[in-house]
Amino acid sequence: MFRSMSSRSFGKSKPSTPTKPEEDRKELVFNDEAAFDAACRDLKSSLKKSGSLDMSHIVKVLHNKKDVHDLIEEHFPGAMTGADILAKVAPVIEKYGLTDDNTLFAQSCCPDEINHEDGDTPDLFAKHLGEVFHMGGLAGIPFTGKTGFAAFSHHVPEEGHAFIFMAPHIGLSESNKLGKYSRIGQSEEGGACGAVVGALNHCMCNKPLPDFAEAGDDAQMCYIIHQINKNKERILAEKEKSENAMQAMAARVAHDVGRDMLNRICTMDFGDDNTQLMVLTGIQINMPKPFDGFFQPITFHIRNKKGEVKDLFQEAFGGEVRRGFQPSISTRHLNAGAF
Ligand SMILES: [Zn+2]
Repeated sequence: MFRSMSSRSFGKSKPSTPTKPEEDRKELVFNDEAAFDAACRDLKSSLKKSGSLDMSHIVKVLHNKKDVHDLIEEHFPGAMTGADILAKVAPVIEKYGLTDDNTLFAQSCCPDEINHEDGDTPDLFAKHLGEVFHMGGLAGIPFTGKTGFAAFSHHVPEEGHAFIFMAPHIGLSESNKLGKYSRIGQSEEGGACGAVVGALNHCMCNKPLPDFAEAGDDAQMCYIIHQINKNKERILAEKEKSENAMQAMAARVAHDVGRDMLNRICTMDFGDDNTQLMVLTGIQINMPKPFDGFFQPITFHIRNKKGEVKDLFQEAFGGEVRRGFQPSISTRHLNAGAF
């Protein structure tokens, strides 16, 4: 925990600003390491460039990072950095006997380059578990389908296991707008996930739905538009709260669409009698620099060859399950504690 203190200056020869009366100082309480890390990186970078920092700037940056973190906690409760996610999931992976030698890792993430940076959740899991099979297409939906899963599962080591990480993504721009991202070298903020935002715009403008039969060159986007359209009322209902709330709901819908497809295509027709399939799903959040990428876990379970499914969410993340919304029908079959 960090509390802001006085108004001195750090650095070389710049004179310190006059000390403000105690009552003018706004208390700032930090309880998140990621926000504090981001503030420190930002301040170090400014100090290098300008040679000095006055305390009012330091406090401003701390407030800014706290605001960013509060916004994420409001719309994606329980979200944390990829490193924190891995720290919580790795002991569970180990407990159930999955290792980088006996487990094949698959990820279903949007191809957008901002999802595949060093330190992002998929990158950390890939490094932890070894080689990566890519199941995903636009919006992180596992568009490689039943054929992709069959290929992946038949690449699993004999007597081994499989781990799937599936996540759509949503950007947070430097102006704190969800569904947008400030990309390097671009002056304007752009959509992220572009496919989800594009599909939502298509539906909000009441454009005709694309025909699957004629969408061969853009089949994934056609599917996403149809799925967003099916959930249009649920998404637009959030607009009354705020634009950010609406974009957050669109990301949740994308998660449910991807997770439902994953549940339809996964089987246990691979490996031997002791083979297990572990699946972690959630929403990847592309944070404004210099924050590390965040991830909101939503489902985490393991299946065995007897057809049993165990919910691992509480075991990994503990405490109250803060998914922020009800799981859709495809996870209600989960038989917690079955094995
Ligand atoms: Zn995307």
